Amino acid sequence: MADNQKNAARTGAKRRIGVVAHDNKKKDILEWANFNKGSLLKHRLYATGTTGEILEKELGVPVVKMQSGPLGGDQQMGAKIVDGEIDCLIFFWDPLEPHPHDPDVKALLRIAVVWNVPIACNRATADFMISSPLMSGSYQRQEPDYTRYITRKIDLDPGKE
Ligand code: PGA
Repeated sequence: MADNQKNAARTGAKRRIGVVAHDNKKKDILEWANFNKGSLLKHRLYATGTTGEILEKELGVPVVKMQSGPLGGDQQMGAKIVDGEIDCLIFFWDPLEPHPHDPDVKALLRIAVVWNVPIACNRATADFMISSPLMSGSYQRQEPDYTRYITRKIDLDPGKE
């Protein structure tokens, strides 16, 4: 069984929540975090650098911090998703501004879909997600079976019979 599949079987009340907020969304994420503080404190938080700093100050709990997003933090969060270390992602990205790390933003959204990790990209969805009974229940997130993709045959010499 692949590591990811092992991680898919992880259940229990303490979820590992990834949090990323672009600069114009940091006020939003703090308001959201305060509003949901009681629920959030039951879980473990992971965040990109600056988002993690402000969350830690606001909530008074330790946050596992990565590098700042534009410096590779989004990619580190994506790698954690691939390794099965994040159960859901709160990603307040800014739809009105271009960013130097736009490819990383797209990659993070993509990889969360690849591994069937729930993603909330605005406050309403994040409210729905954090208040879902599945957050603290025994929900077992299924990870897709990519065996066929991994074992696909590549024709390295298409001209040869
Ligand atoms: P930050 O990164 O939390 O370090 O600001 C967020 C982002 O821009 O991806």
